[in-house]
Amino acid sequence: MQPQTELKNILQRIDKKGYPAYKDTRGSYDFKKYVFTIDHVQGDPFASPSKVSVHIRGDAAGFPAEYYREKECRIALADDLLRRFGKNLRKASVRPSGSGKSGLLFVTRPGQEVLERSALQIDEKNGGITVRFEIGFPANGRTINAWELIKIIYDILPPCILGSLYYAALNAKEVERVYQLAMDQIYIRQELKNRNLAAFVANGAVLPRESGISGLPMKGAVAFESPASMETELKLPFHGTIRGMGIKRGITLIVGGGYHGKSTLLKALESGVYPHIAGDGREFVITEESAVKLRAEDGRSIKRTDISMFISNLPNKKDTVHFYTEDASGSTSQAAGVIEAVEAGAKTFLMDEDTSATNFMIRDELMQRVVNRESEPITPFIDRVEELYTACGISTILVAGSSGSYFHKADCIIQMNHYKPCEITEEAKRAAAQYPLAQEKPSPWRSPDFRRMIKPDKSFLDPRFKIKTTGLDGITLAHDTIDVRYLEQLADQEQLNLLGYLIKYAQCHVFDGKKTLTQAVDALVRRMEDLGIASVCDGSYIPCNLAAPRRQEIFAAMNRYRKLML
Ligand code: ADP
Ligand code: MG
Repeated sequence: MQPQTELKNILQRIDKKGYPAYKDTRGSYDFKKYVFTIDHVQGDPFASPSKVSVHIRGDAAGFPAEYYREKECRIALADDLLRRFGKNLRKASVRPSGSGKSGLLFVTRPGQEVLERSALQIDEKNGGITVRFEIGFPANGRTINAWELIKIIYDILPPCILGSLYYAALNAKEVERVYQLAMDQIYIRQELKNRNLAAFVANGAVLPRESGISGLPMKGAVAFESPASMETELKLPFHGTIRGMGIKRGITLIVGGGYHGKSTLLKALESGVYPHIAGDGREFVITEESAVKLRAEDGRSIKRTDISMFISNLPNKKDTVHFYTEDASGSTSQAAGVIEAVEAGAKTFLMDEDTSATNFMIRDELMQRVVNRESEPITPFIDRVEELYTACGISTILVAGSSGSYFHKADCIIQMNHYKPCEITEEAKRAAAQYPLAQEKPSPWRSPDFRRMIKPDKSFLDPRFKIKTTGLDGITLAHDTIDVRYLEQLADQEQLNLLGYLIKYAQCHVFDGKKTLTQAVDALVRRMEDLGIASVCDGSYIPCNLAAPRRQEIFAAMNRYRKLML
């Protein structure tokens, strides 16, 4: 490590030289209260900006150990500090003139979810803080403008760092609230298990968002209010006693007229696998963490997946135990989604009729009469939903607006009425009794065949192998894009970035033709738990733009990769 004056010396020396001279600045510099490191220098002013990091020793940062000892609390604190640092940085930065990305400062801007990120990490043992961000090293044309960088590093950054990453500089009450919210969320998650619940939605929660492209809460929304019969009381460690709707494990149906808030409730449950920040409206909307949203996804690829529990005897005699296609139909895609989610360990399925394949969900009586069983390859989900719970322990929460068939199967039926839920299980069951289901007896549930061994793809070993992501839509590995648009529980592009690295790491180090997908994903998840999320990036520095995806999304992304070699 060099003294901070040395960085200034270097910068003064290279001022007005050609851009590559910036490479001399790489290294760590002691700024007394923190260490400033230039991890990677961009090749030219137009390239992706330079990567830098700031490290603060735990005793200097001074946060109480209880705030970072537990993983969820640590992630919540890191998230909060990152937001503070980003806010300060955006306020302080002035866009200087210059070519390309000269003088631009980029730091991750988290959304409503609290995710584990590489942009700010806290050491669980000593509370040391590392924040990673980007600086566009300034130039005029391709000539170094060192004085601009000196201004950034010596004038702009220090107050941002000192004002946001040290306990003593912050309002202790505000920091405490972050810890308390995280603890309460942990508590609710634990109570879901203790009380055999799949999800909890607190009274007063605000579920709808401002718009289809915003994560912010809708203003003036109707606050959530549990039906009396489903009301569950929780004594939170910090926020006192709260009440809300407890959705029991089993089969839950959400019905109601169009536009009454069914899909909005389901969306909140989908997002409830992640904790949300204070003020989001969904702080106490918590869904069991393995819950997976399932939907139809026409056109996706399916990699030798055993969908025979839902689809068999296809007219082209295609094997549905090792089903393979480059262009799935609505029903085959949803069947594969179910089986893949079982493999990924999901204990709750979330489905919306709006985005499901009708022929996968039901087969009505008239159709059963006209088209007999032998000519229908599909065993609809409705004939499997009970076994999924009894045999596999998987609950289903299903939004249905138009078909009453599931009334017969549901343990609990909720009607959304002007954004207010009411429980109508008894009435609906009574009504359903007058319309008995013409049950076709499917073959009993058999555990799907998950023995797919993944072979490594050597092309990933090429050091020039590129990973790129586009919004929440796609992950491009070299020239192949994995379409993840329909993985609706991916919340942040940084999760896509890490998924890209995970697949690359798996190709280079994990897949060996002998491991199943589950074994491979287990190995990846274990590695990230033991060594941190960035441990799956081979490279000379840790990227600043990674966020942890869930295990379920790791499976889902791999299952959609067309070049996966079996
Ligand atoms: P459904 O699925 O029952 O047809 P949606 O959930 O799509 O209905 O909701 C319809 C509209 O109502 C959406 O524009 C949504 O933003 C709005 N909305 C949903 N819940 C609420 C609420 N609690 N308060 C106000 N508006 C809401
Ligand atoms: Mg809807």
